[in-house]
Amino acid sequence: MSKVILKSEDDIEQLRASAEVLSNLLVEIGKAIKPGITTLSLDKLAYDFIHDHGGTPAFLNYQGFPFSLCISVNDQVVHGFPSDYVIQEGDLISVDGGVNLKGYISDSAYTFGIGEISDEAERLLDVTKASLFEGVKQAVAGNRVGDISSAVQDYVTPHGYGIVRELVGHGVGRNLHEKPEIPNYGKRGNGPKLKEGMVICIEPMINAGDRKIKFWEDGWTVSTADGSLSAHFEQMVAIRKGSPEVLLDFVGIENVLK
Ligand code: MG
Ligand code: MG
Repeated sequence: MSKVILKSEDDIEQLRASAEVLSNLLVEIGKAIKPGITTLSLDKLAYDFIHDHGGTPAFLNYQGFPFSLCISVNDQVVHGFPSDYVIQEGDLISVDGGVNLKGYISDSAYTFGIGEISDEAERLLDVTKASLFEGVKQAVAGNRVGDISSAVQDYVTPHGYGIVRELVGHGVGRNLHEKPEIPNYGKRGNGPKLKEGMVICIEPMINAGDRKIKFWEDGWTVSTADGSLSAHFEQMVAIRKGSPEVLLDFVGIENVLK
């Protein structure tokens, strides 16, 4: 989509309903994800859950994507294919899902650490998630996209991690990807102005090593070029005056992971 589409309160209500289905799905994934199951079994769970709740998987067939979830393991950054890969203790599994409920699209991602993970992996998860929250704080009317981008970058950079640049956050609504793009690097005060009625996805993709990535021949999977671990967290936010309205938080997921 080439221009920003502002949402009415009714649109935002519909997006909130879509996000609730997705949030509940990610809770179910949080309960199911463990060593010994395949990533494909999570995709089936998602397909069934979304249909049982009146929606359709927003990713399935999107530009030809063949699954309901993107599941990206360890050095995979995003857009990985669910497969017969058997999840192992110590893995980092990024689960990115999308729901289409009555024409309204929600989009969110959470990276799960499986069982005991290394201190390095734990730190990567903590920093990536915290950088998302720093970005979200800037997602208020009157700020600019660059305020979000620089907040993510400024949080991540001192940790020495690589910030993926080729892939970015985005507006969301009746389309999965709308304007504006929300990069995870940039300058304060730059970029499009944030206005009430915008709904955006902020989604830092952070590599433990270098920021460079490679694109697989399957046409979708993205992994780190140096084989280092990568993490990805994504939230949907409605732009308001004063403070951001997060349409989908991680409270439910983290309650089941305790
Ligand atoms: Mg997204
Ligand atoms: Mg996503």
